Parts: sequence; C-alpha cells; structure tokens
Amino acid sequence: MKTHTQVAVIGGGVVGCSVLYHLARLGWSDVVLLERSELTSGSTWHAAGGFHTLNGDTNMAALQGYTIRLYQELEQITGMSCGLHHVGGVTMADSPERWDMLKAERAKHRYMGLETHLLGPEEIRELAPLTNVDGILGGLYDPLDGHLDPAGTTHAYARAARMKGAEIYLHTMVQETNPHPEGWEIVTDKGTLIAEHVVNAGGLWAREVGAMAGVYLPLHPMAHQYLVTDDIPEIYQRDTEYPHVMDPGGESYLRQEGRGLCIGFYEQPCEPWAVDGTPWNFGHELLPDNLDKVEASVEFAYRRYPVLERAGVKTVIHGPFTFAPDGNPLVGPVPGCATTGRPAA
Ligand SMILES: Cc1cc2nc3c(=O)[nH]c(=O)nc-3n(C[C@H](O)[C@H](O)[C@H](O)COP(=O)(O)OP(=O)(O)OC[C@H]3O[C@@H](n4cnc5c(N)ncnc54)[C@H](O)[C@@H]3O)c2cc1C
Repeated sequence: MKTHTQVAVIGGGVVGCSVLYHLARLGWSDVVLLERSELTSGSTWHAAGGFHTLNGDTNMAALQGYTIRLYQELEQITGMSCGLHHVGGVTMADSPERWDMLKAERAKHRYMGLETHLLGPEEIRELAPLTNVDGILGGLYDPLDGHLDPAGTTHAYARAARMKGAEIYLHTMVQETNPHPEGWEIVTDKGTLIAEHVVNAGGLWAREVGAMAGVYLPLHPMAHQYLVTDDIPEIYQRDTEYPHVMDPGGESYLRQEGRGLCIGFYEQPCEPWAVDGTPWNFGHELLPDNLDKVEASVEFAYRRYPVLERAGVKTVIHGPFTFAPDGNPLVGPVPGCATTGRPAA
C-alpha cells in the first residue's frame, strides 16, 4: 500500500466508487479507495437499483439527471454492463397538493432541460395497465426513469477510475483518521497512509467513520424492504418492459423484475436499524423478513395494483441503508473541519 495520496476515499459502495471515478476524471490521478471487504459490501449489493430524476431539491434533481445520463457513457468507457433498463416511469398524485407539486416539478424540469411531462389518469392506465387509477388526479412521466444493476455499476465505476490511475485497496479497514500536518493520517489494518483529503463514503458506517475524526454526522440507517413476485402473465406476455410506477400516496414504487413485479415500500411505521452503531461484522447479510410492518402498505398496493393479490411472493429483500433528516445524501465539507485535517480558518 502506498504511504501518501492526494485523496483517500473510505468505502467501496456505489458512492465511493463514483467519487473515485469523478476525482480521477477531473485530473486527480493520485487517489485511492479503501474498502474493508469487497466492493458493494454495504447497502449497495441489495439495492433495488431504481433511478429517478424527481427530487424536491433542484440541485439533487440535476445531479440525478446527470448520473442517469452518465451510465451509458460508463458502459462505453469500460465495456462493462451496468444492467441498464431505461423503461421510463410515472409518479402519481392522489391529492390536489401532490398534483400541484408534480406540476411545479414539471416547470422546474423544463428549466433544467429534463423532458418530463404530465399525464392524466387515462394516460397512466394506458402506460401502466395494471394500475387502478381511481382517485388518481394525474402523474409526472419521466422517460429517463429506470433501474440498473447496482453491483455491476459499482464495478464499472471502479474500472473507469482504475483506467485513469486511481488505486483501490480491498480488505483494508480504516480504523483511525487523525489530523496530520499534511492532511490526515489514515490508520488501516494494512498500514498507515497520509492523505491530503479524505472522503467519507462509508454508507452504512458513515456515522462511525465520521466519529473517527470526532465528527457527528446526522445520519441513521433505516430498514427498507421490497418484494419480488412470482411470474405474472400480464407482465411476461407484454412486448415491452413494464414502466416504473411510483405511488407516494401508497408509499410504494413498482417495476418489472424478470417475469414478475418488484414493489418496495417506504412505510410510515419505519424502522430505525442499529441505533447504537452499525456492527463492523455486518454487510453480507439481509435482515429477517418483516411483512407485518408493511401490512397496511401491502393492502393499499392490492387496491392500487389488484394483480398483486393473485401473485405469490418469490423473494423478500430487507436491508438497511443510511438516511439524513431530509432524505437526501449528506454531501460536502464538514463545517469546522477543513478538508486537510487542519482546523478550518
Ligand atoms: C432494500 C434496499 C433497496 C434499495 N433500493 C434502492 C433503489 O431502488 N434505488 C436507489 O437509488 N437506492 C436504493 N437503495 C439505497 C442504496 O442501496 C444506497 O443508497 C446505496 O447503496 C448507498 O451506497 P454507499 O456507497 O453510500 O454505501 P454502502 O453501500 O453502504 O457502502 C459503504 C462501503 O463502505 C465500506 N466501509 C465502511 N466503513 C469502512 C471503513 N472503516 N474502512 C473501509 N471500508 C469501509 C463498507 O464495507 C461498504 O462497502 C436501497 C437500499 C436497500 C436497503
């Protein structure tokens, strides 16, 4: 392992590998990524892989739009597949307030160069015929919506970064980050490294990585669950892949998975996970199924998508991922803690 670097990125999930690639692409060739296990050993390996441009925060919406367009370029650069499914998607409104919000988003998207458009209930039914549109006022359609293979995408970012000179050290656990005259001293179980800058991409362990520098980050992992159904004739007999359907009123997102459907829930009785800290030996396992906590959301989904009531559940994926209070990523320099490890001026 080298002993000095311009930037050390801690964490080899999709975010750390993307940061590493972007640094290398911007000309920072002396950059390393430190991963305690294999790439994707946190939340990334079990993500449903859905992507959307809709975000109440304009900068986040722009960033999501940029990233979605980047995946094809990433495939071309690396020759690796990101498992892209650009199927398009509609976010539905079942109240005047949600409908106003979608209209406002549409106006914002037009300014940002995103080609979304508004649909009426009948158009939603034509697009996604398994939807019961009773009570739906309309929806916002985005042709960019879709899903990908999170592990494949992470490895593609890693290859693209390596192609530009970045280095990745697997099975290298960061144990301490100490201020140092040249930046930060990064103590790992494989040796010590001086980094001028440190990026915390610790995902599920971002709280713990922040605490190594004496920093409290307002982050918390929550348990999230999605279900994959058995084969559904109305799905596998189609000529085209089924679009994504987001139903904020039902706290759900729905898309095709193989010959069936995948539906995930952001249920109200949400479940904080690992309140006292994410165990370091976690990462390659899922949480036990918990269908009780999504019971109300599932019942709602049966009314919205009646076909689900007939479809058996093939797989349940229940895993944790980290949230900031506003639901958006926590990004940027830590106030009061200069990027070089010296106190901020
Ligand atoms: C069930 C489920 C479904 C999801 N579906 C979607 C979806 O459809 N769309 C979507 O956009 N998102 C989805 N997500 C969220 C998504 O998984 C996460 O937002 C994303 O994976 C976070 O990536 P990350 O790189 O920040 O963190 P992680 O994937 O948690 O990666 C962090 C990495 O850092 C490493 N690390 C941590 N500490 C150290 C240390 N001290 N030293 C070295 N390495 C360290 C870990 O080993 C790990 O590999 C879903 C999540 C779950 C749980």
